[in-house]
Amino acid sequence: MARRPVNPPADGWSLTLPPRLWNELSQHLFRDKEEHGAVILAGRADGPRGPRLLARELLVARDDEDYGPGERGHRALSPTFVRDAIIRARDEQLSYLAVHCHFGLDRVQFSRVDLASHERGYATLRQISGQAVGGLVVTPHAAAGDLWLPDGSRTSLSETVVPAGNMLRLRPSPAPPAASDPVWDRQARLLGDRGQETLARLRVAVVGLGGVGSILVEELARLGVGQLVLIDSETVDATNLPRLLAAERTDIGKPKTDLAARNASRANPQIRLTKIPRRVENPEALRELVLCDWIFLAADSHSARHWVNAVVHEFLVPATQVGVKIPISRDGSIGQIHTATRLIAPGIGCMWCNGLIDPTELAIEMHPEAEREQARYVLGVPAPSVMPFNTLAVGEAVTHFLLASAGLHETNDDLGSVIHRPRTRERHLQDPRQNAHCRWCTSTGNLGRGANGELAARQASTTRV
Ligand SMILES: [Zn+2]
Ligand SMILES: [Zn+2]
Repeated sequence: MARRPVNPPADGWSLTLPPRLWNELSQHLFRDKEEHGAVILAGRADGPRGPRLLARELLVARDDEDYGPGERGHRALSPTFVRDAIIRARDEQLSYLAVHCHFGLDRVQFSRVDLASHERGYATLRQISGQAVGGLVVTPHAAAGDLWLPDGSRTSLSETVVPAGNMLRLRPSPAPPAASDPVWDRQARLLGDRGQETLARLRVAVVGLGGVGSILVEELARLGVGQLVLIDSETVDATNLPRLLAAERTDIGKPKTDLAARNASRANPQIRLTKIPRRVENPEALRELVLCDWIFLAADSHSARHWVNAVVHEFLVPATQVGVKIPISRDGSIGQIHTATRLIAPGIGCMWCNGLIDPTELAIEMHPEAEREQARYVLGVPAPSVMPFNTLAVGEAVTHFLLASAGLHETNDDLGSVIHRPRTRERHLQDPRQNAHCRWCTSTGNLGRGANGELAARQASTTRV
């Protein structure tokens, strides 16, 4: 079977749709050879390559009732449906996008009739809502958008992104072939030149630069990821040396961000790096995280889990949590060692829903440093950490990321976790659970709120933590 072309990330305005919302939309629009319609209500955020619309809710237009023959012969949304949707957009400060399907596969554009209807309607809708309004026309592999912005200007969408098991980037037409650099020859034979260019255009964060994070940085840089955001507040300790990749005795006492940056530039001299020698809940770190395409969470604090989880669902940025657990009880007996690689996909069972954030631990970590240390002291000694287990977890995590970025997973639904148990050589796949009214990962909660969500409010209200 011929490979579907991969579109590298494009500059300009984009729309991101959580995978479940895209599945629901696809089932509605592409179920037969008829034209169908819907409305997407979307939050707003800045992105690594331009402004982003974050799809939060899908309002499906029922055939004939909400979407039927219009006055000018073509199908159109009914005035009542449009009115209800635009009022919701206004009340919740969300952008409004009317979407319908066209035939075809990897190319799509608005018809003259479409554009004429935009001219008749969108200036008024923009006035009512005070937000961006527009139209989106899609096929299974392409999308084009016409946006009418609150400042009176008009622009088009460069891409529509679906952060599913494969990262879908739908454009009006396929990206032109990329120039190839012989340095990447052996891996571009697998990823394709467009897959390699995709990596070069991605901005990826690594949160936590210890045993797991240092290996992540090395692999991502060697693969040709173009930009890395390196977040860790700690300095190198002598006891870190056995598992920090390429660390030297002279690194003791230096920030872990410096060591990671040195290794990344050695792996790829062209790489662009942002060093944040702070904890992830620091507003500066959070501001950088929301501007990423992917986040690797390799810090095991519950506050790091909480804030990364918030970024994933409020800003629709996918993340992978990578961790190792080596349980040893007081009598010295060793429990079931396991490594976990969890994809946290926007709108799909979050870390709260899956019991991965402990509210008590989180509360302790929110305390000032001194009190936190006291609480830790009571909790006990540091957990064991050994390099090969970290390597196992990182290999799984980066493999998934690589296949997703280059569109090489066999299905788009590969959204689960992998648990390795090295002592028994078992490997398990787990699907995430989701609570119906979760405050973080559902559209009754913060999903896709972007600049209007709780996280953005924290960034704005706090100057320093
Ligand atoms: Zn049309
Ligand atoms: Zn949730």
